[in-house]
Amino acid sequence: MRLAGKVAIISGAASGMGAAAARIFAREGAKVVVADLLEAEGGKVVDVIGAAARFERLDVTDETSWEAVVAATLRHFGRLDILVNNAGISGSSVADLYSTEGWHRIMAVNATGVFFGTKHAVKAMIAGGGGAIVNMSSIHGFVGSEGSHMAYHASKGAVRLMTKTTAVQHAKDGIRCNSVHPGTMPAMRTAGRSADPVVRAERIKAIPMRRAGEVDEVANAILFLASDEASYITGTELLVDGGAVAI
Ligand code: NAD
Repeated sequence: MRLAGKVAIISGAASGMGAAAARIFAREGAKVVVADLLEAEGGKVVDVIGAAARFERLDVTDETSWEAVVAATLRHFGRLDILVNNAGISGSSVADLYSTEGWHRIMAVNATGVFFGTKHAVKAMIAGGGGAIVNMSSIHGFVGSEGSHMAYHASKGAVRLMTKTTAVQHAKDGIRCNSVHPGTMPAMRTAGRSADPVVRAERIKAIPMRRAGEVDEVANAILFLASDEASYITGTELLVDGGAVAI
């Protein structure tokens, strides 16, 4: 098993790619904290996994909430080896691409949430002798798009660079940090325009592999970067996009 004996927190694990990563991590021997705002959905993910998983309510925009989740993880599982900063909201969660409120909300969840998670997880990882952080960015951390608020691109670009900063600053502590950049995947819960079948069909036409990705295809990339198989990989970015950014 590729994560035997490891303890992981996955933010946004009640749904989508976070839930897929939680299932795959548990299959590979990890204890998993499914951390999310959505208690009922998170509870269902835990029910499917069984005793290796535990739900903790987390609002990634609230620093005290992160402190509580890290403390609960240490209390129940005794250590913290892996953090997956996965929670996020869509760039089309607001219709008005110049919404100021949208700017603040998207940045708070997608960028500040990663800062808080990193800040509180590294303390626990240093105490345990090291760890691995995987940050969810996007192809939209590389390129612009027509239908997403610029805060989505700014936040995912920020995550890409926050990843490199964490990698450089904590290599000495035995902590690796890498980012994953999915392309077109099943629509996010908060997606507006980007969930439109016509918009999706247009996007898919432009992907060299001519299809959307599946959640397990991203979860497997997260698994690799979180595992000891990636022991000499830090500060890098892994595109999981069917070749979309290679054009
Ligand atoms: P999703 O909407 O299915 O899941 C996101 C999860 O984050 C949800 O469970 C949600 O409740 C949680 N969340 C949102 N705000 C939160 C908060 N304040 N505190 C705690 N949890 C919160 O979306 P997904 O497709 O699984 O997306 C996961 C990550 O992948 C996101 O960071 C997203 O930006 C990124 N991503 C998604 C796509 C895509 O097309 N779906 C593509 C590239 C990158």
